Amino acid sequence: MKKRGAAPMVGGQGRYGYFHNSSLQKSSFLAVKDMVREAIVDKFDVPIRGGTIRIADLGCSVGPNTFYTMQTIVDAILLKLKKLTSCDQVDGVEFQGFFNDQFGNDFNLLINSIPFDRTYCVAAVPGSFYSRLFPRASIHCFNSSVSLHWLSKSPDGVANKGRILYYGGGPDILNAYIAQFRLDMMAFLSGRAEELVTGGLLILQFLCRPKCMAPDAARYDIVISFVEPVLREFVMEGKVKEEELDSFQMPLFAPSIEEFKEVVEMNGYFTVHVAEHVNQGWGLKGGGDEGTEADLEQLAQSMGIASRAVCEKMLSDHFGSDILDELFQRFPNKVYQHFSALIPSIPSPPPSAFFVLQKKPHSPA
Ligand code: SAH
Repeated sequence: MKKRGAAPMVGGQGRYGYFHNSSLQKSSFLAVKDMVREAIVDKFDVPIRGGTIRIADLGCSVGPNTFYTMQTIVDAILLKLKKLTSCDQVDGVEFQGFFNDQFGNDFNLLINSIPFDRTYCVAAVPGSFYSRLFPRASIHCFNSSVSLHWLSKSPDGVANKGRILYYGGGPDILNAYIAQFRLDMMAFLSGRAEELVTGGLLILQFLCRPKCMAPDAARYDIVISFVEPVLREFVMEGKVKEEELDSFQMPLFAPSIEEFKEVVEMNGYFTVHVAEHVNQGWGLKGGGDEGTEADLEQLAQSMGIASRAVCEKMLSDHFGSDILDELFQRFPNKVYQHFSALIPSIPSPPPSAFFVLQKKPHSPA
């Protein structure tokens, strides 16, 4: 079977679409927004005399989060330029925002929801961010929020019976995931190094595991992994074939900050200015951050809908769409059972990390 990367998020304006179910991802960006602004004001170092400043958001999905992110970056660059240059020079500057995601992304919905009050021109760029996307030395600032933990494909040669991720799968499985992560990240960094102007920034936030956590520790902090116990039940009930489950691996890997920095060092084209873990609330509709039983019920429901928006397409491509409704009906109960033992302290959301990288002067292009 052909290995796939992440399927795009659920498109359209419907109940299960990403457009209406991405408040968790929004809260990830809100948690780093001030650091983004600060990094741009401190580190953005590109000589600008009039002309166009180009910014790209990689893994933008269908909105609305990406528009908020883009405007934040445009405003921060403008602030930086005002500090550096005269008003006349700043007045001549124009911004172009590129929105990138995979070919299957619902770009129609994205384009139809572009805000009227934006202060940049818009272009959509379909394609994988593990390949070249832009001409050499054409982009001044890249952002990628909650996307880079998706690998280009799940690793080859993995026999991970009954499991959909590397957690608890033992060292061989973990090593296969790490090898795929390294390959992908090298391709990502090399592509961006060619596309960025010297002094340009690469701003990233994605799922990373905390230092204290063993790399393959069984964990449910990454919410979508709750599909696994439901799929196992489906196998026992004959609704899904055992081989189907055994051949399904999610192409997702959450490295440690150190593992990511190792790849940046191997790649050699970037300086790392910021590498920090991020604390964010759940940010899901229905709240759930207080820690009562009722909160947990709400949170479990919200996690179900948010997870469906993320992985419905990936699951239906492999298992067919007939199982989806029942799978996501059972999903909240799995979340509830797992976390209820921990009340009143509901575990924090999946840990992520924030990075600011700058292209070094001797890098390509
Ligand atoms: N940045 C948005 C969306 C995050 S969801 C936000 O913060 O709300 C993750 C997105 O990454 C999905 O839309 C998915 O299609 C995209 N993605 C995953 N792998 C990708 C790849 N190789 N190239 C481009 N986009 C990718």
